[in-house]
Parts: sequence; structure tokens; C-alpha cells
Amino acid sequence: MADKKLPFSKSQLEEIIKTYPTPFHIYDEKAIRDNAARFKKAFEWNEGFKEYFAIKATPNPYLMKILREEGFGIDCSSETELELAKRVGMSGDEIMLTSNDTPAEEFKLAKDMGAIINLDDISHIEYLEKNVGVPETICMRYNPGDLKQGNLIIGHPEEAKYGFTHEQIIDGYKILKNKGVKQFGVHTMVASNELDPDYFVETAEVLFNLIAEVAEKAGVRINFANLGGGIGIPYQPEQKAVDLEYVSAGIKKLYEKKIEGNGLAPLKIFFESGRAITGPYGYLVASVLHIKKTYKLFAGLDASMANLMRPGIYGAYHHITVAGKENEPHTVKYDVTGSLCENNDKFAIDRMLPELEPDDIVVIHDTGAHGHAMGFNYNGKLRSGELLQRVNGKIVEIRRPETIEDYFATVDFEGLKDFKV
Ligand SMILES: *Cc1c(COP(=O)(O)O)cnc(C)c1O
Repeated sequence: MADKKLPFSKSQLEEIIKTYPTPFHIYDEKAIRDNAARFKKAFEWNEGFKEYFAIKATPNPYLMKILREEGFGIDCSSETELELAKRVGMSGDEIMLTSNDTPAEEFKLAKDMGAIINLDDISHIEYLEKNVGVPETICMRYNPGDLKQGNLIIGHPEEAKYGFTHEQIIDGYKILKNKGVKQFGVHTMVASNELDPDYFVETAEVLFNLIAEVAEKAGVRINFANLGGGIGIPYQPEQKAVDLEYVSAGIKKLYEKKIEGNGLAPLKIFFESGRAITGPYGYLVASVLHIKKTYKLFAGLDASMANLMRPGIYGAYHHITVAGKENEPHTVKYDVTGSLCENNDKFAIDRMLPELEPDDIVVIHDTGAHGHAMGFNYNGKLRSGELLQRVNGKIVEIRRPETIEDYFATVDFEGLKDFKV
């Protein structure tokens, strides 16, 4: 059972709201640090183990600075994300670029920063060579096709746009060896929000088998295996978090057999998880604006799907706690909505909650990853700010809320005056 207790009391939230009005996302630094340390410890048997935080999940440089201090690298998939890494002061092999359909400028910036480039396609070898040159270290993304079942969110690997086929990747190592590459990596990611721990052990097995095959057929020794992201979190109270110690022990056993046993050690294990690192430790805090009773009962919040898109776009469950009413019985059924002119702007449908009234503080759980990051401006909605509860309990603003001026910053209103119609 996942713990859905809030790390803040109602009075603490009321105090915060005096300075930072709702809605906002708030992250719990201590919980994020504890979780990061636990992740690292689970794999301490593997020398060179590194988790590259998938920055797209929560692209906030303050959080990245904290995770970096915990020993994490950064996984980027765009030029902007590389720039964020730069502004945090990161460089070299603490950065991994796992992108696809990659523009030349992105490869160039990654190479200039000394980042590890993870190629998504065999045609990118030539493209990279032509545009920026081939670096000494390179990784390739493997799409195992029907050798591996995908999960619900990513679907069948054969249908996915990512990665090299089996044949292509073996050729890829041969080609890159001839081009003078010295350090090689292999990467795969065929799941998203997966809660079955065996899934990740099986993914490691697929890569370890490939590594042995590459050694034999291409004469290339692979130095690191990036097992990707996709570790799920228990959004629903009855779900169970992925047992990282179990995953690690399963991978270690395979490592001993297939890597050490075949003379292929040392091999560094990498992950590039986002959701599992920060997801459970962020909360969207909103206030009830209106209670509306028509054919159904609606609780309208001052937040909308512009602040948290997951329920609206994939019907994702996010647990909801009403501050101060934690112990009241859940006797009333609500659709909890935002104010977008979109009927799927609902945080929950038919959710049993304590009786709500305007100004109640509603806390939506598990928004620490793919929450604020997926925000948007449709309907002129402004993205909220982000707060961090420091380890000492202090609250700091790590991103201010957008203003109407931010929204219009890309429009030239001077030009509008001269614009003849
Ligand atoms: C999205 C993504 C991740 C992170 O996924 P999570 O579900 O947040 O762990 C990692 N790597 C790649 C290539 C991704 O696209």
C-alpha cells in the first residue's frame, strides 16, 4: 500500500498560501533526497553506477542541483534541456543526451559540453559525423522489437519510433569502431510508468545478451548499459512502489552470470528515471472556488489541467487529500474540475471525498514528475509557480508563477499599432 499522507498540515499550508497564493506545485526536498540516496544505495555493488535524472519530468534547475549533489547526472532530450544542464554547472559525462529526430544544433551543443550522446538511429551516425564529428564515447538506443514486450503506455516496441533494430545496432558498433570510437554504451527504454519490478530485470537481460553478442560479432566491448527510465510510481493507494532492492538483486545475479561470466566486466549500469525520482514528492495545491450542483456534483478548483495534464489526457488517477479533512469520511461523490473550456479538464471523476466547500485546500498527489512540466497556456491559463520545502522546513520559491505579461511576451503590441487591416 502506498502512503498517501501529506507532509504538511492544514495550518502549514494556510501559512504558505499567505505568501504564495494557490495554485502551486510544492516539492519535498527531504523525501526527494532520501529517495535518491536509496536508489543509489540499491546499486552500490555496481562500480560506476549512475542515475541520470530525466530532466523533462521536472525541469527545475533547483531540483537538479539537489539531485546532482546526491550524485545524479542529467538526462536531456532537447537543446533547452542541455542549456538547463549548463546553467546548473553540469558538463561532460554527467550529461546524457537521449533524443530522437535530433537536430544538428542539439548534437553540436551536446558534443561541445562533452555530454554522452545516445544515438536513436543508424542514419544518425553519418549525420553526426557530417555535422559535428564523432565523439570518443557514444551510446546507441536499442529497440528490441518482438524480443521484448512493451508495456501499456509505450505499446509494442515494433510500433515505437525509437531506437535501432537488432541488426542495425550490431552494424552500428562495427561502423563506430572503425570511426575510432573508444567507449561504447547501449541503451533501451520500452516502458513507461511500469510497476512490475521483474520488467526491469528482464530489460537488463535483453541488454546483457546483446552486449555478449556485440562482443562476439562486432568485437566491441561495451562499457555501460543504460536501462532507461519508465519506473512507475503508485499513483493509487492500493498500488505498491517498485522494489528497487529487488530489481537490483535480480540485475546483479544476471550481471554475475552474463557479464562477469563472459569476461565482459566491468560494465557500468545507468538509469535515466524521472518519475520514480521526484514523482511522489510533489503536490499540486489548489483551493476550491465553487461547488456546482447540476446533474452531477462538481468541485471547481483554481487550478486546471494547464497545471496538471495527466488526468485530462490519459485519465490518470491522482490521489486527492483535502487539507484538514484527512480523517473525515469520504461520503460525497465529486467531479473535481478546473476552469478550462474543455470538458476533460477534470482532476478526478466520481471521486468520493469529504464534503467540500469553497476555500477548502485540495492537495493533488504525485505531481513531482510530468506535472508542472507538462503545463501549457491554452485558454490563456498561466503556469503556476513551484515551491520547495527545504530539509529544514523552510519554504522557497523555485519558480515564480507566470504573469499575463509573460504570456504576451512573444507578441509585439507596438507592431499591432501599425498593423493596418
Ligand atoms: C521520458 C523518458 C525518460 C523518463 O521517463 P520516466 O517515466 O519519467 O522515468 C527517460 N528516458 C527517455 C528516453 C524518456 O523519453
